Amino acid sequence: MRGKLIVFSGPSGVGKGTIREAMKFNNFKFSISLTTREIRPGETDGIHYHYVTKEFFQKRIDDGKMLEHAEFVGNFYGTDLEFVNQELENGKNVFLEIECQGALQVLDKVEDVVSIFVVPPSLEELESRLRTRGTEDEETLQKRLAKAREELALKNHYKYVVINDEVHRAAYEIDQILDQEINKA
Ligand code: 5GP
Repeated sequence: MRGKLIVFSGPSGVGKGTIREAMKFNNFKFSISLTTREIRPGETDGIHYHYVTKEFFQKRIDDGKMLEHAEFVGNFYGTDLEFVNQELENGKNVFLEIECQGALQVLDKVEDVVSIFVVPPSLEELESRLRTRGTEDEETLQKRLAKAREELALKNHYKYVVINDEVHRAAYEIDQILDQEINKA
């Protein structure tokens, strides 16, 4: 049986990565994205992302090798089509942790996606989380916040909307969703 595609999205800084780490459900292959952004301290090439040049990324798009891609605050991010197709064909579930433009492309192209959108309790809370994370300068942070406002308006496209009020509660809610959608399907 073909695996299921899980699209896990939400604004930058909302805590997608932290929730994923707190989740117990792990019956999926995580798709490692390609990005043109610079590697951050603590990140490893091939684990967090495949870090590539803009030229390389563009060629992959031109060759039709990306399932989806998006420009996010000056950098490109995208999902490798072959990886996803191969894993799904092998019966594995595939987990995409991606921003909204890309998520909407996937929802347009692929049927029967389990789509989950994580929202912050408020925009003020999101700003405070991005500041605490401290990975961006002020200008980039403001751009990410502006983007978050746009992204939050798109939440109705997703099957499930989960509020990240507390990481373990949100992770538990997502575990329940995936258990229902995948194990009991
Ligand atoms: P960051 O620079 O903070 O790692 O990621 C910025 C945003 O891009 C986050 O919302 C992250 O989930 C999203 N992102 C990561 N990989 C992909 C991808 O392959 N495609 C798309 N569309 N977004 C991605």
